[in-house]
Amino acid sequence: MKKAYFFDMDGVLLNSMPNHAEAWRRVMQEYGIDFPPRVCYINEGRTGKDIIEWLGAVNRRPFTPEEVQHIYDEKTRVYHELGGGLPLKGIHEVLEYLQTRAEIWVVTGGGQYDLYEQLERWFPGIFRREQMITAHDVTHGKPHPEPYLRAWEKSGYGKADCCVIENAPLGIKAGKAAGLMTVGVNTGILLRSDLSMAGADKVFDDMTGLLKWLQESEK
Ligand code: CA
Repeated sequence: MKKAYFFDMDGVLLNSMPNHAEAWRRVMQEYGIDFPPRVCYINEGRTGKDIIEWLGAVNRRPFTPEEVQHIYDEKTRVYHELGGGLPLKGIHEVLEYLQTRAEIWVVTGGGQYDLYEQLERWFPGIFRREQMITAHDVTHGKPHPEPYLRAWEKSGYGKADCCVIENAPLGIKAGKAAGLMTVGVNTGILLRSDLSMAGADKVFDDMTGLLKWLQESEK
């Protein structure tokens, strides 16, 4: 029986978290808000709007909708200026293995309008525009289950035949809250326990570990 794999993007497909974290740090610093990398990684998966509103609330500096948009645009600009993200080590092998055996989806909190084009550039022929759930498709970002529920509904697969691949605690929570098997790959600066405590059914240290497990389970 074929399965559907729901891949998160940042930190799973792309090694983009170091530049995301740095872009966030720089842009928030301009507003006098400290946003250190570990806090950024722990909150990874929320939409940009959620992150800005949350930072505003906890720092008693609420932002207007215009400011939220401006900050998000600035953050995106700085992120690209820093070089954006490149494919994560070992991810090509994982996607090539699954390409003929399973359906591959992208479920991301990212909201850039050229996401598909970016993916097509790095992973030609792997992804399909209609098999993507982005910030534009949901009302609630991760850790809310909505992004993964949307993917599940749209895929037409049974829940037992779907599997979420995540690198972040909130993404893992979203996958589990959607009632789906959720695998964590610890590609960033967090501890393995950050992912298992978020509820991951399995945790791997890298894509090689994930690939080995897929080869076993997709035999
Ligand atoms: Ca992620």
